Amino acid sequence: MKKKETKAKPRKQGFATVAIHAGQEPDELTGAVAPPIYPTSTYVQQDLGKNKGYEYARVSNPTRTRLEQNMAALEGGTSAHVFASGMAAVTALTQCFLRQGDHLLCGHDTYGGVPRFFNQVVANYGVEFTYVDTSDLEAVKKAMRRNTRIVWMETPTNPLMVLSDIREVARIAHAGGAELAVDNTFMSPYFQKPLALGADMVMHSTTKFLNGHSDGLGGVIVGSKPHHAEKLAFMQKASGAILSPFECWLVLRGVKTLAVRMEKHDENGRTLAAYLKKHPKIRKVMYPGLKEHPQHELAKKQMSGFGSMITFDLGSLNNARKMLRKLSLCAFAESLGGVETLVNHPATMTHAALGVEGRKKIGLTDGMVRLSGGIEDAKDIIADLEQALAAI
Ligand code: PLP
Repeated sequence: MKKKETKAKPRKQGFATVAIHAGQEPDELTGAVAPPIYPTSTYVQQDLGKNKGYEYARVSNPTRTRLEQNMAALEGGTSAHVFASGMAAVTALTQCFLRQGDHLLCGHDTYGGVPRFFNQVVANYGVEFTYVDTSDLEAVKKAMRRNTRIVWMETPTNPLMVLSDIREVARIAHAGGAELAVDNTFMSPYFQKPLALGADMVMHSTTKFLNGHSDGLGGVIVGSKPHHAEKLAFMQKASGAILSPFECWLVLRGVKTLAVRMEKHDENGRTLAAYLKKHPKIRKVMYPGLKEHPQHELAKKQMSGFGSMITFDLGSLNNARKMLRKLSLCAFAESLGGVETLVNHPATMTHAALGVEGRKKIGLTDGMVRLSGGIEDAKDIIADLEQALAAI
């Protein structure tokens, strides 16, 4: 009897393996283990309409293709398109999926540059924006409109570390005929996979944890449907805010250690939050890994770790200033997600554009400091924080 052929089910690789190998295959020509950088603006064509898949570097570049394959694999998407910065990725998303008369419902506590861009740029093209606390599902339902095309949110939020239930918000968005796009920059795909929870698109500022070394800007939109791939590829070609081959390579290089870095970020995040919570000069610590965090249970449900983003309140602008001035090992700087600990003051830096009223509305005070825990030895970070907090 003829033996029945059974197709072996491909083994699902682990996250670290995918990060190191997806799009990172050895170079076919030379066997080089590190992906080559192709610094070219154009490609020789074989005949009219005949080429090797690459025509012009705004449209595509082999180093970029590799990064896009890697990003799609890590988020579990069907496509990924990279742009010159996180904000360039947000720009492309609005260009692709919003038209005059459309409405975007945005979480009310996001990276400050996002509402700045929506209100001061895209609103001029006849697109409407409203802002809502996406952790309040009833409020999201109520804020949906007939013309809502996209619901945009961050979870945890920047800088208040408030979580939104991705599965539930996706349900509400879909019931209203809209798509859910999640900025997953704070958690990285290592700790949170919005597409698996029902979101339609994921955005990252690759500048942060994905690159991980504070040495290059970048942004990505990972899609889950054919129209995402089609429109975003078109927008790379049409508007051209693409990521350079060298910066694609930096992210490809950085992402190889994403799994080990995130483990260490998480370990340090928990240690630092526990230290800060006990400090007498600190009024409140916002970190989803703390039992006291109002959404600690949701955090355990939809994230597989808590990361290293921590916000704490020192009570006043003056106290925040005194402490920030004294930092020595930790960098007092914008940005997050680097191997080094970065500390900033949201009210005057990342969220200055919201204005006093805007910050008051979401509960962002002048005494709040946001810390992106690096992967240094936790005891050294604590020693630096200790001496800086003593200045208050
Ligand atoms: N999203 C989040 C959560 C961010 O923190 C930032 C930048 O700080 C952005 C988006 C924008 O990214 P980029 O600075 O790469 O343009």
